[in-house]
Amino acid sequence: MNDLLPGEIEIWQFVESTARTLFGRFGYGEVRTPMVEDTALFVRSVGEETDIVGKEMYTFEDKGGRSLSLRPEGTAPAARAYIEHSVNNQEPVSRWFYMGPMFRYERMQTGRYRQFYQIGAEAYGAKEPAQDAELMDMVVQFLEALGLQEVTLNINSLGDENCRPVYHAKLVEYLKAHREELCADCQQRLERNPLRVLDCKNEKCQSVAAAGPNVLEFLCEPCRAHFNDLQRKLELLGVRYVVNHRLVRGLDYYTRTVFEFIAAHPALRTASTVGGGGRYDKMMKGLGGPDVPAVGFAMGLDRLVLLLKESGKTFAQRPDLFIAVADEGSQDEGLNLASRLRREGLKVDFDTRGGSLKSQMKRADKSGARFTLVLGEQERTSGQAKLKPMAGGEPVPVALDSVAATVRAQPEAPAPAPAA
Ligand code: AMP
Repeated sequence: MNDLLPGEIEIWQFVESTARTLFGRFGYGEVRTPMVEDTALFVRSVGEETDIVGKEMYTFEDKGGRSLSLRPEGTAPAARAYIEHSVNNQEPVSRWFYMGPMFRYERMQTGRYRQFYQIGAEAYGAKEPAQDAELMDMVVQFLEALGLQEVTLNINSLGDENCRPVYHAKLVEYLKAHREELCADCQQRLERNPLRVLDCKNEKCQSVAAAGPNVLEFLCEPCRAHFNDLQRKLELLGVRYVVNHRLVRGLDYYTRTVFEFIAAHPALRTASTVGGGGRYDKMMKGLGGPDVPAVGFAMGLDRLVLLLKESGKTFAQRPDLFIAVADEGSQDEGLNLASRLRREGLKVDFDTRGGSLKSQMKRADKSGARFTLVLGEQERTSGQAKLKPMAGGEPVPVALDSVAATVRAQPEAPAPAPAA
């Protein structure tokens, strides 16, 4: 679990505000659900045999003897809220997004934490492939807006309740015949959640899986039509993708479409999946709700932030102005001028400790401010001062009562490199 401090948090805020703006354009409204839910919600939706529910949940009993869990993901809580508020009676299609912390007791490594953050979206009420395509297009536009281009969309179809069991049986039969070649984990998965063998990272398991039955060859006619139409629509939208018949995702609730966004950047090491999702047409009903189809995705914010850090871009907004005081008698005036300029909309840094002009100038350098204004007795009596451009160049004369306007009128110079 990480602390996020100023200096880094600006990247998070950039990702979050980009998501809010972009998802809003697609008609998604934000929902916020509690951080804890009944444990049973996740057991019934994510699935008892999954790693998430089986090994990774923070589960505890509250004082009333109820079993609660910190949410390990956001789809089930959103579905619970949708059912509880009978949203399907109010509108035929609803589009929601959420962002916030999720909790999984995972083995720690780069890009994998126990409290991590997701941004996700869910579209309820439309079963058509156009909805899947629109959602993927939204993620692609989101990644573009973040400036993250090197991400590949993988898609697959897991079929539905008609064709999946046939594939499932064939897969188990095949894997049983190759049991000895599988890693110890997969030998267990074979009994409990055989689909998971397909995305095991172990090389031997991968080669067994690669030669096994291909889920796409088992799709029934309606599932095949859905998958074909999805691909046609992605092409129409100019969304690039690859079909990956071994993509299964680790949760039980998916039907038909599943997808993942995978980044090639080495900084992520094995945590290269930045997001994923799929269709879950049966989950609402399974939770005792209405028969409403749905499709959604979740992106890992921590991993997006890691990628953005690697990009070397700066996200912190630098101060417009640093006010330094030349003598102690100017300290109050400096405090007051800073306050006034902030009210006028400038980002102003002021050293409330006072101290020598030299130390204040050092601080001004470090702050990355565009300009420094030194306030002393002479400036106070004349009402005139100078804006010193920190990137170099001629000082700009300024009247103390028009500092904000003068700063705004100056052309933006490139940011000076902050002092170490
Ligand atoms: P999942 O629900 O497991 O498909 O997760 C969706 C996305 O959330 C993943 O692609 C990751 O980007 C992110 N994610 C999942 N688990 C973690 C974790 N333990 N730490 C950081 N990010 C995670």
